[in-house]
Amino acid sequence: MNAIYDVVIIGGGMSGMMAAAALAKNGRKVAVISKGDPVCCFSTGCIDLLADGDDPLKGIASLPDNHPYHLVGEDAIAHSLDLFQGIMSEGGMPYVGDVHANRRVLTSLGRCKSTCLVPETMEFSDFDSDEYIHVISFYKMKDFYPQYITSRYTNAGYSVFDPGVITTAGIAEKFENRPFLEAFISWVQGLDIPEGRIAMPAVLGRNLVGDVYHQISAGCGRKIFEIPTLPPSMPGLRLFGGLKKALLQKGVNLYWGKGIYSVEKLGNRIEAVTLASSGRATRVEGRAFILATGSFVSGGLQASMDTVTETVFDLPAYLPGARETWFNDDFFAAGHEIEKAGIRVDSSFRPVDTEIENLYVCGSILAFSEVMKYRCGHGMAIATGVAAANACGGLV
Ligand SMILES: Cc1cc2nc3c(=O)[nH]c(=O)nc-3n(C[C@H](O)[C@H](O)[C@H](O)COP(=O)(O)OP(=O)(O)OC[C@H]3O[C@@H](n4cnc5c(N)ncnc54)[C@H](O)[C@@H]3O)c2cc1C
Repeated sequence: MNAIYDVVIIGGGMSGMMAAAALAKNGRKVAVISKGDPVCCFSTGCIDLLADGDDPLKGIASLPDNHPYHLVGEDAIAHSLDLFQGIMSEGGMPYVGDVHANRRVLTSLGRCKSTCLVPETMEFSDFDSDEYIHVISFYKMKDFYPQYITSRYTNAGYSVFDPGVITTAGIAEKFENRPFLEAFISWVQGLDIPEGRIAMPAVLGRNLVGDVYHQISAGCGRKIFEIPTLPPSMPGLRLFGGLKKALLQKGVNLYWGKGIYSVEKLGNRIEAVTLASSGRATRVEGRAFILATGSFVSGGLQASMDTVTETVFDLPAYLPGARETWFNDDFFAAGHEIEKAGIRVDSSFRPVDTEIENLYVCGSILAFSEVMKYRCGHGMAIATGVAAANACGGLV
């Protein structure tokens, strides 16, 4: 028998997962269909709300009028981040921070990134440059060079521990093994390092990060913090794992590793989608649908030479001018025009220029979100995901 849901969410990224969490919290029967793992797995795990300026929530007022944050509103953005923090705390991976204060997080290149909410393991990353920082690195660990950090700070030093494995995931797994953790703590205790903080690449466990972090902090008697590393990023994977687990606990049905094969419509409504699979077709029926398939990087949008296509419902996509205007000459410059591409929505997060009545859109697939330019990735995904859920939740 086919399942019938109040809301079917297509796309299991930050926006889709937060929409699902908000709906499930209000007793809705929800399914999330996702072709693959989302972009947050590659991220630092930090929640950027709006990276420029000291007060990110206040800064939203200065964004262009068509930015999707304006459809949500400041109070609802703050509530959506509260909801996110509540979910992560319940899952034992608390996030700290304040929507009115950006904080700095040290990166593995020794520069600081501005962000809003951080996992508790990065709480002490915003340090005063007068304070001594001791970086602990791991022998032969890929893509982490403490010298990048110590060369930028005169008041810093480093030591290297040999964990017996070289990959980020391998070291993180080792930290969940008690004898390994105890051996590491006693090694740190034996180091002769000046007063100050201890920084480590983000490898302090995968699922049991809270226990590992608190035991090392207590054992060392210091403020310690994790430095996000290049992908695979443990904080990004923990974030994804934490949300996915929370959805399962809330009774959300997950169809993972499956794209959409076909869409059934009746009049102006979407009735069901059929999942792409090699075996028997699965039909998933819903009263409302939320499209959260992300931007180009996840395949929610696809560009050809001169068009941009939305890949599930073939919705009309906003295109920022002719192709020669899409990119800046300087690849690393913020604000490539193509970042404005996406689906335009009305104040209820329904796509404009279509007759479909029961479809809502959220996340980085939204037109004018310009996530890289404004560095508002996860913040925008969380805020619009919860807002789209609230918009359709009243109808089902
Ligand atoms: C490398 C990188 C690092 C980043 N780091 C940060 C950071 O540190 N902090 C921050 O705040 N932001 C960061 N961002 C931005 C942020 O990750 C994203 O803007 C945000 O997470 C997007 O969430 P989303 O839900 O819109 O989409 P996505 O995360 O792209 O998720 C979309 C999901 O939809 C699925 N999907 C796509 N098509 C289909 C289909 N046809 N059927 C079913 N499922 C489908 C995909 O498999 C994917 O799981 C980073 C982005 C990148 C690329």
